[in-house]
Amino acid sequence: MDKKIQKLINLGKMLPLMEEFYTIQGEGFYTGTAAYFIRIGGCDVGCHWCDVKESWNAKLHPPTLSNTIVDNVKKYTNTVVITGGEPLMWSMDYITNLLQKNNIKTHLETSGAYPFSGIWNWVCLSPKKTKLPLKKAYKEADELKMIIHNKNDFLFAEEQAKKVLNNCMLFLQPEWSKKEKMTKLIVDYVMKHPKWKISLQTHKYLNIP
Ligand code: SF4
Repeated sequence: MDKKIQKLINLGKMLPLMEEFYTIQGEGFYTGTAAYFIRIGGCDVGCHWCDVKESWNAKLHPPTLSNTIVDNVKKYTNTVVITGGEPLMWSMDYITNLLQKNNIKTHLETSGAYPFSGIWNWVCLSPKKTKLPLKKAYKEADELKMIIHNKNDFLFAEEQAKKVLNNCMLFLQPEWSKKEKMTKLIVDYVMKHPKWKISLQTHKYLNIP
């Protein structure tokens, strides 16, 4: 890669942009809220059920100026969700500073497996067994979103819930390919353990991105 581009990427002034779109947040605490999504390429967490495997190889996604991305956001709304891939593989300081300066609220979706960067109004932490969050990620989380693919995932969810702060919201979300079986189990589980709430991938039911 061109050295100049690499330098801009290292500074977070360019990011490997996979896609960007204005839609409705389908999951978690902000379900139903309009937001501009920025999907950054690159992830080595390796969830076998991942529904955005195309994001894994960052080299497939063109380095894009963070200023251009922010200009695009400004045309649509005042809330942005930065997702991936794993956005924290890249420095989020520059883009989130710029978004904040433009009075745009910054929301992050992360596995927490990479060091924290950026200024965030809301952090959704979704830990994965294959690459656990770093310690600091638990303290940053406003929302813990645990994906339930099989019964063992309830145990993992409880272990992870012990690590976040007391005011962190707790969500259990069925993995999409197992949703028929797992949603029923989650309903029973939440009624028995009401500290948890259910999160559904409502954008997929609505057939929107
Ligand atoms: S952390 Fe997210 S993007 Fe990465 S493999 Fe898992 S589900 Fe896919």
